[in-house]
Amino acid sequence: MSASVRVRFAPSPTGPLHMGGVRTALFNYLFAKKHNGTFILRIEDTDQARFVEGAEAYIAESLKWCGFQPDEGTEAGGNYGPYRQSERGELYRKELNQLLANGNAYKAFDSSEEIAAMRTEAEANGTVWQYDAKTRMSMRNSLTLSADEVKILEAKGQPFTVRFKMPHDARNVLVSDEIRGEINVSSGVLDDKVLMKADGLPTYHLANVVDDHHMKISHVIRGEEWLPSAPLHVLLYEAFDWTPPAFAHLPLILKPTGNGKLSKRDGDKGGFPIFPLSWTDPKTGQVSKGYKENGYLSEAFLNMLLLLGWSSGDERELYNLEEAVQAFSMQNVTKSGARFNPDKAVWFNEQYLRAGESSRYIESLKKLNATAMSDWSDSKCQQVLDMMLERVQFLHEVGQHTYLFDAPETFEEKLIRKKWKPETAGYLEDLKTVLSEIEPFKSENIETEFKAFLASRELGFGAVLLPFRIALTGAGGGPSMFDFAEFLGKSQTLGRLDSAISKLG
Ligand code: GLU
Repeated sequence: MSASVRVRFAPSPTGPLHMGGVRTALFNYLFAKKHNGTFILRIEDTDQARFVEGAEAYIAESLKWCGFQPDEGTEAGGNYGPYRQSERGELYRKELNQLLANGNAYKAFDSSEEIAAMRTEAEANGTVWQYDAKTRMSMRNSLTLSADEVKILEAKGQPFTVRFKMPHDARNVLVSDEIRGEINVSSGVLDDKVLMKADGLPTYHLANVVDDHHMKISHVIRGEEWLPSAPLHVLLYEAFDWTPPAFAHLPLILKPTGNGKLSKRDGDKGGFPIFPLSWTDPKTGQVSKGYKENGYLSEAFLNMLLLLGWSSGDERELYNLEEAVQAFSMQNVTKSGARFNPDKAVWFNEQYLRAGESSRYIESLKKLNATAMSDWSDSKCQQVLDMMLERVQFLHEVGQHTYLFDAPETFEEKLIRKKWKPETAGYLEDLKTVLSEIEPFKSENIETEFKAFLASRELGFGAVLLPFRIALTGAGGGPSMFDFAEFLGKSQTLGRLDSAISKLG
């Protein structure tokens, strides 16, 4: 790999960043870091009609949450700025003039109505019309008009677009893709794409290629939906007499059914997030909650995205960001679409919650349960986390276990019918006596004395442990009862036992 790997994530601020966009950013980041390269954020905001207020800030916030900061970009700055295309108009005009001067582009004065009419007519004849090497000579452009006629039209303020002049010899265009290998396309099927619109703004194709060249981008890593644009881009590099970057087109992220591209609608239907962070549509006010607000840890979200289109080739699935940098290689990115599995996303969250140091969640736990835990010490919160993290998929589920805060008011009825025998209350009375003598009231001691009590009375675990659990929590599942009793402390434990005995008899 050459010394200076420079890659860019180049989103358009046309709405919230989709998780597929985050995956593209992630793969760019991993590739950059793996090769000691530079990860650049460039905002492609030339399409005024699709500009959405707040989208750029949303993109920056999302990358921050994910923990991969651009080395260069709109916020980070750098030597190749500005990093917002709307601020680079001068450069596009200069480069476009170059293409006009060397005959690789031309001005087209046909109105959009005229072009639409050509299309409609072709459709009626069962064919498809496009502005290309075959049709351009019958249109109104700087190839068919004289230089004087062009001057007059321009002087009159007649709007025009600038189009790329596709080579007319229908030759082979070679796109070499790091993931897909060599792709050959005949230039004969390509149209004369608009490079500058009638409003004077560059199109995506022009701005993208000019910027990738001027920002010294070594590898263009982007979604598969851009693959059809790659032959045009290759020809643009050629027309400019520039060396093209390497290309890598990432596989699509597919719906959970595997049928088609994953969309926001799939998320709404399946009840899973599609965006990293919550997004409020500025027009409708509609709020879409993101992974973050749904309780996902960013590490889990990223790990899940990593495996959408990349695999190490072995069974390993868990990678933190640093490990992913080490393991990542473009060779292991798949060509075929990657099916998204929402359950797997939950699974990753569970894994990361379990693996993390419980102390790092203290703040979040307190925030999530602000009222109930307002006067809790950090060590008490940590105790809860140590007991509960293994038992939840999301941190917010911890607080749903209400027995952590209050003695149970009710007891699972079915369980009582099955497990609460006439002799149970008596056992618990005796257990109370045993517990009241334990000093210090620690989990290990409670466990030892509990077992000794069972042995002395020749009782099975089930006869006493489950009723003990029911009395303290109201339910049949939960944390280790010895840990939980220690957490409650002696007097609360005995109090809850008393209250259950009097309620259940
Ligand atoms: N602005 C394009 C997008 O929104 C960038 C495509 C590319 O990376 O070339 O995805």
